[in-house]
Amino acid sequence: MSSSCSSSDSSFRPSAPACYESASRAQAWVAVYQSVDACTRGQVAAVVADSAGDLVSAFYSTLLADPEAGPRLSHDIVATRLHGAMQGWLKSLLCVREQGDIEALLVTQKKVGEVHARVHIPIHLVMAGARILKNEIAARLRDSGLDGASASRATQYVCNLFDLALEQMSRAFMRDVNRGARNDEAYRLFALGQNIATERERQRAALLEWSQAVLIGLHYREPDQVLPRLSGSEFGLWLQHKGAVLFEGAPALGQIADAVAQLDGAVLPQLMRSAREGLDTLPAHMREFQELVGRIKHLLNGLFDLVAELESGSDPLTHVLNRRFLPSVMGREIMIATRERRPFSVLLLDVDHFKAINDAHGHGGGDQVLRQFAEVVHQSCRSSDFVFRYGGEEFLVVLVDTDAQAAMVAAEKLRAEIRRHVFRVAEAGELRVTTSIGVASFDGHPDYAYLIERADRALYRAKRAGRNRAEAA
Ligand code: GH3
Ligand code: MG
Ligand code: MG
Repeated sequence: MSSSCSSSDSSFRPSAPACYESASRAQAWVAVYQSVDACTRGQVAAVVADSAGDLVSAFYSTLLADPEAGPRLSHDIVATRLHGAMQGWLKSLLCVREQGDIEALLVTQKKVGEVHARVHIPIHLVMAGARILKNEIAARLRDSGLDGASASRATQYVCNLFDLALEQMSRAFMRDVNRGARNDEAYRLFALGQNIATERERQRAALLEWSQAVLIGLHYREPDQVLPRLSGSEFGLWLQHKGAVLFEGAPALGQIADAVAQLDGAVLPQLMRSAREGLDTLPAHMREFQELVGRIKHLLNGLFDLVAELESGSDPLTHVLNRRFLPSVMGREIMIATRERRPFSVLLLDVDHFKAINDAHGHGGGDQVLRQFAEVVHQSCRSSDFVFRYGGEEFLVVLVDTDAQAAMVAAEKLRAEIRRHVFRVAEAGELRVTTSIGVASFDGHPDYAYLIERADRALYRAKRAGRNRAEAA
């Protein structure tokens, strides 16, 4: 049997909402509900109501097999709650015969988005889930006795409702995730504010204490004794709970975790067995033990160095701003310039023939020149400007509230200051240095990389034109 529904329904009038986040958002929902007639809405509602349990089961079993989604869903409580909650969600969205309560729908999607943010379910997994459900519903609509055109309209209606729900969820999700990221950042800065030097010593001592406990345990073996695991030691706990925040995103963190796992999982049991059974493999396992502990110490040192550098925000050699802050500063300046309709400019400076300085005076001599170069640049700029070490012998200056013409004047002044400055290199004495400068002014493009690229092209022209000069983009 084949039936058909007509395409739209002007009689559909959802109740006036009391408090919408935005009237246009609600309007989009009204438009989708009105895009089909009551007959189509009824057909969709019937299909979904009849098969809600099966739909959720199909959704669940597909995602459970997914390597990324599966582990998040495998918990019994999640499974039970999800089943009920998802059926309820589907019905509230799609089992709407006459009048959908759009205000309630908006609130529901917002809540779902907030839960996803809280339990770290990324948007792409939610979209994967929605795709499964859409396809399941579309297949059932095709089999429901609707004619082709009506089934196609009904499917489009279902897809539109899903997309609206996802839009609303994503909005809440992003707001919460951004808020969480800000909090994480604030906490990380707070953690950084703790005394890094003291923490470094404490953790070094904690690691040493653990390795001594292992050695003592091996030496004075009791029957059935187990060696203390590094992951459960003070150091291990600190690493997992605080180090992970302090060093977030650093690859060395994963390498340390691997070394800890190898020590706990393989080396300690082998050490214990060799010692208990008096095997001659003991020295080899001891060496492995020392090597892994040494590697952790080394990696940890590197991480603390990184954080110490980050803490001051400055490049350790030249003490101007570290390049890692470039995105924050440029993002902020572009925002201000756009909002206030004010200009700003960047200067990209590159020391001329720096390789020759290194060749003549050694790397140490080159370093001294770089330090003095940065000092001259820093002194010549206003305190409101930003000076970054952009690369080896390249510096980037952000001139706030400065148009193209004023930026060229500033660049020329800077070039002359460098030319005039007497650089001093221990043992080698006095030295003269020149710099080439590329100048670019903000032209409204929102991507800061584009602005720097223009400055870089201008710098290239300055080099080509003979060096010791400034060129505008
Ligand atoms: P040009 O005028 O075309 O810029 O020539 P250049 O010699 O300055 O440029 P090139 O890019 O050939 O060489 C730059 C050198 O800077 C190469 C690199 O070894 C050196 N360098 C990079 N970072 C540092 C540093 O931190 N300290 C020292 N001493 N040298 C560095
Ligand atoms: Mg260079
Ligand atoms: Mg150079």
